[in-house]
Amino acid sequence: MILLLWILQVAFLGSFYRSITIARLRTYAHTISDTIASDGDAELAIYDASEDCGVCMTLYRIEGSRGSTLVSSHVKNNCFIHTFLTTDEISRIYSGTLSSGGKLVTNLIGDTENTDGGESMVYSVLINGTEGEKYLLLFNTESYPVDATASMIRTQLSLITLLMLICAAMLAFLISKRITRPVAQLSAEAQRLATGDYDVHFSVSGIKEIEKLGETLGYAASELSKHERTQTERIANISHDLRTPLTLISGYSEVMRDIPEERTAENMQVVIDESARLTELVSDILDATRLDSDSELLGLSTFCLSDDVSDECLRYSHMLNAKGYTVTYELIGERAFVSADEKRIMRAFCNLVNNALSFTGEDKLVQIKQIVANGVCRTEVIDTGIGIGEDDLGMIWERYYRARDRKAKGVPGTGLGLSIFRKIMEQHGARYGVISTPGSGSTFWFELPTV
Ligand code: ADP
Repeated sequence: MILLLWILQVAFLGSFYRSITIARLRTYAHTISDTIASDGDAELAIYDASEDCGVCMTLYRIEGSRGSTLVSSHVKNNCFIHTFLTTDEISRIYSGTLSSGGKLVTNLIGDTENTDGGESMVYSVLINGTEGEKYLLLFNTESYPVDATASMIRTQLSLITLLMLICAAMLAFLISKRITRPVAQLSAEAQRLATGDYDVHFSVSGIKEIEKLGETLGYAASELSKHERTQTERIANISHDLRTPLTLISGYSEVMRDIPEERTAENMQVVIDESARLTELVSDILDATRLDSDSELLGLSTFCLSDDVSDECLRYSHMLNAKGYTVTYELIGERAFVSADEKRIMRAFCNLVNNALSFTGEDKLVQIKQIVANGVCRTEVIDTGIGIGEDDLGMIWERYYRARDRKAKGVPGTGLGLSIFRKIMEQHGARYGVISTPGSGSTFWFELPTV
């Protein structure tokens, strides 16, 4: 920018001024020449133009190579054409104009003292009259004192340049301190993070946005490390859950292969049960993954949720009565019809019942309640187990999450049941939740609008 200013303001100042002035005079010359060519009042045209632009003008009629004054408009004192112009010079300007095709700028011929330090610039134009007569029109303007102006601008520009260089240096220093350095620091830390090193620090001091970016990156790093920890924990959990039935299956099978007396129905049942558990585990993992990819659309239909739930309770009762479990069903209100994906809702419901059966107390009691009122069917699964601690309450819906004390007790499970339940409820836009007091059991519930 500074260079551009130097070039425009110093190097080309004179030629700019000159070309602008000449362009202006050329339009006046054009008007006057038109007036003469159309036999109009040349005198009036010249006086008007002269007043208008503040330039002295003279119109000569040329005979031979000499010119006699026809109109003279003198608006500035000490102008060249009214003070110093001799007949010889008129002839010289005429022949110069003639040889340059009718238009000529003759400058730098003035007396610098008489023209306020500037130089006279004479612009001459040849005009042809209607009857073949020839005229020479002279404009006398003062060329601007370019050198003096340029030297003044140069001094100013030197000061501006110095000032701008100081400002630019300060700005560069500030930008480097507040932006470039912190960004480089952040990028170095981000590269370490990319290689899996989570011991990174994104706290930098710079402009507000960069500090915010640092905070966000720090948050992302901590989340990533948390995610990796949970991932490892999950894999360990799944491996552990898979290993238990596999160990039992292979152990029992080997014993039955080697010792014929051990080939009993009970031992075979253990192998069958453990295989079933394995299948359930794998199908849970598959279900959870499938539900995650939202591509599976809901197969909506209208069905009687009360009938389905009470049938399911009956089935549980038949299956588990012998083992001492009691599964009860109570309906408060009308039978409820809902519009939902029947298979998935029942899958979600069974997950709750399975958990209740696993975690219920000594009395082995699981109560199912349905309360139908105000267009909503609320289904509750109530157990009398040890309940869920406050710390665990927020986490139980997470995939592979299993409360620590439960895991320690060796209750079988995948940690997927409730995450599958939650996903199904979210897909239906249903409200759900749990009320639990440690020591006195839990109530898991969900609500669906009736139709
Ligand atoms: P899983 O039961 O296979 O471990 P879930 O996702 O179904 O996995 O449950 C997650 C955790 O929530 C369980 O490990 C358990 O700690 C807790 N939980 C679920 N249902 C109950 C319940 N009825 N009573 C007490 N704790 C429960």
